[in-house]
Amino acid sequence: MAQYRRLYGPVPSRRLGRSLGIDMVPMKTCCFDCVYCQLGRTTVHTMERRGYVDVDEVLRELQAWLDAGGTADYLTFAGCGEPTLNLDVGEAMARARQMTGIPVCLLTNGALLWDKGVRDAAMQADLIMPSLDAATEHAFQQVNRPVKGLTVTRVIDGLKETVLEFHGEIWLEVLLVAGINDSDSELAALADAVREIQPDQVQLNTVVRPAPGSDVQRVDNGTLVRARVILGPHASVISSAWERAVPEHAERSLDEVLALVSYRPCTVEDVANGLGMHPNEAIKYLERLSSDGKLRREDRDGHTFFLRAE
Ligand code: SF4
Repeated sequence: MAQYRRLYGPVPSRRLGRSLGIDMVPMKTCCFDCVYCQLGRTTVHTMERRGYVDVDEVLRELQAWLDAGGTADYLTFAGCGEPTLNLDVGEAMARARQMTGIPVCLLTNGALLWDKGVRDAAMQADLIMPSLDAATEHAFQQVNRPVKGLTVTRVIDGLKETVLEFHGEIWLEVLLVAGINDSDSELAALADAVREIQPDQVQLNTVVRPAPGSDVQRVDNGTLVRARVILGPHASVISSAWERAVPEHAERSLDEVLALVSYRPCTVEDVANGLGMHPNEAIKYLERLSSDGKLRREDRDGHTFFLRAE
């Protein structure tokens, strides 16, 4: 891909298959300066929309990639900053899909969706993946360090409008950072926001790699499980977020499984991921604890949860 300035990948993604990244802003132009950002500190901290990158240049590269036999499952508009800052991102997405026949994903921090122009642009995508890391102003300022004038209420309002107007799917990503947005009260505020926004999915993530110049920490697997439960039936943890320190198939004790389930109701998957064990092993522990009368089952929204019996 050395000959391309605006394209990268395709990168394998569990969520999107093989995804070709398309960069619509120069490094690093963003209305956020997230504490966990893999790109380092934001150098152009702005919410001014401009033609930062020329659409024709992007599409010329895309044509060259196609001519060279390029294939992908998704074209993902994202890159070295916030793609919706580019005034022409909607046109770029529409023309890119028309040229390639490949579905288009918009990966956005979601911060500008209160702006009708940004929403109109976003409507050109087939799938929108916005972020929402916090639902209180305090945590929002701490985790996302937005440009002056952006408030969390404004961001949530924009997300609600987008869900109402968009005909495709919206997968909301929530990234948890230890000590900032992982407390019960922050997660409860996020759960309220999710109920208002009503995205199709909520995908939980955490700090998987150290961010340059920052010492933010990931949350542990138990917190991911707790967050998944609090955020409701549409929430799941993306597979790369799980801490792998505990080897798979590790021997666990019945007490550890009971302790996890006592804390929050869990599915088989929650127990397997939370304790780093194979799902078949998790089922055996859960069955044993159920037959001993220590756990009971409850079906909620198509999932079977295990709860402490008493
Ligand atoms: S929104 Fe994305 S690009 Fe912008 S600072 Fe946050 S992680 Fe980095």
